[in-house]
Formats: sequence, C-alpha cells, structure tokens
Amino acid sequence: MASIFTKIIKGEIPSYKIAENENYYAFLDINPLAKGHTLVIPKNETDYIFNIEDEEYKGLFAFAKKVGIAVEKVIPCKRIGITVIGLEVPHAHIHIIPINSIYDMDFKQPKLKFSNEEFIRIASDIKSEYEKL
Ligand code: AMP
Repeated sequence: MASIFTKIIKGEIPSYKIAENENYYAFLDINPLAKGHTLVIPKNETDYIFNIEDEEYKGLFAFAKKVGIAVEKVIPCKRIGITVIGLEVPHAHIHIIPINSIYDMDFKQPKLKFSNEEFIRIASDIKSEYEKL
C-alpha cells in the first residue's frame, strides 16, 4: 500500500507544498515544532533513509539544503536544524526546522497550531524564496 507521503506526492492527499522537482518533494509538516517546519522527501518510496542508493540520497540532501535556505529567508532563526526520525511515517523524510536553541529540536515539545490560511501563507512565502534561488 502506498505511504501517506506517496499519496501527497500524487495529489491524492492535500499538502502545503513548497517545492518539487523530478525526484523530490517538500511540504510543511502538519504538526510543526516551529513555524516553517518542513519535510523533504524522495518521490521514490523507501522506508529507511539508509536504504536509498547513494545518488538519490545525495540529491535528497542537496534538495533539502535549497529548501532550508528558502525557509531561513522567511523565518527568523539562528539556524536551520535538520533531522531524520522516521518512526511514524514509513517513507524517508528529512525534517527542516528553524531553531534558536537546542530545545527547538525536541520532538517532545508541544506542536504548534496554525490555521489553514496561515499554513497557506507560510508555504507560499517559502515557495517564493525557493523559486528565487
Ligand atoms: P517521523 O516519521 O517520526 O519523522 O514523523 C512523521 C512526521 O510527519 C511528523 O512530524 C508528522 O507531523 C508529519 N506528518 C504526518 N502526516 C502528515 C501530513 N499528512 N502532512 C504533513 N505532515 C505530516
């Protein structure tokens, strides 16, 4: 059965899309730790990130770098933190999180709530920056 993220890529489930190319897709995390918390995924569905072959793996991180640079142009922060967990959704993904302290990377923190309009605005602002890169 296709993962929820494959359904997002295919447009069968909605997402707040930021960017996509032939091989990768980026969209806002629906339960964000920070404003601008973004997920970057390969279009090929692989559960565990270390099972992705090297070229695709390198491409995933290069795409995540570009997305992260767009995120930090929109969201004021000290750094963009990146992390891979993958315990919940069995489709490899990189979390891109604007951070000001180490605690901002703590997944036990309560998640933020945004309205649909706010998510649309955040995604649109990051998308605009991404398209300038
Ligand atoms: P993990 O697999 O532990 O890295 O966590 C999966 C992440 O995917 C969590 O941060 C969820 O909030 C996020 N997530 C799950 N479903 C969706 C969805 N439909 N749209 C956006 N983010 C999602």
